[in-house]
Amino acid sequence: MQPEALTGSCLCGSVKFEIKPPLSGFRYCHCSRCQKASGSAHASNIFVPQSQMKWLTGEGLITRFDVPGAKRFSVWFCSRCGTRVPHKVRERDDYLVPAGVLDEDPAMRPQNSIFWNSKAPWYVEPAEIPKFSEYS
Ligand SMILES: [Zn+2]
Ligand SMILES: [Zn+2]
Repeated sequence: MQPEALTGSCLCGSVKFEIKPPLSGFRYCHCSRCQKASGSAHASNIFVPQSQMKWLTGEGLITRFDVPGAKRFSVWFCSRCGTRVPHKVRERDDYLVPAGVLDEDPAMRPQNSIFWNSKAPWYVEPAEIPKFSEYS
């Protein structure tokens, strides 16, 4: 069963938002822009229609960056702590929500990995490496 609403927040807690399921998609994106924007191997992107997304606090602290020359790629982040927050996808009805900023389990799981051919050369599938519950 899907939760009624999911909340999310940035690292410093200034920016808070709420999204309402059903979510329209969940994917890992390995494109080079997502690598830069996330500082990691891939972004974990959830999509939700604009009407199901609501800012609760801190909207005024959000800095928006539209990548020059990009059709849709934007990065919105909390100007106090730098955490990436959801952004309205240009030319589409959707918000892109970075899954890691959610405070609750979205119930949905990633459906696919896109831009697989652009993946970082150092990326190793998690199944292939040892796991520890704390620092090792
Ligand atoms: Zn913050
Ligand atoms: Zn991407």
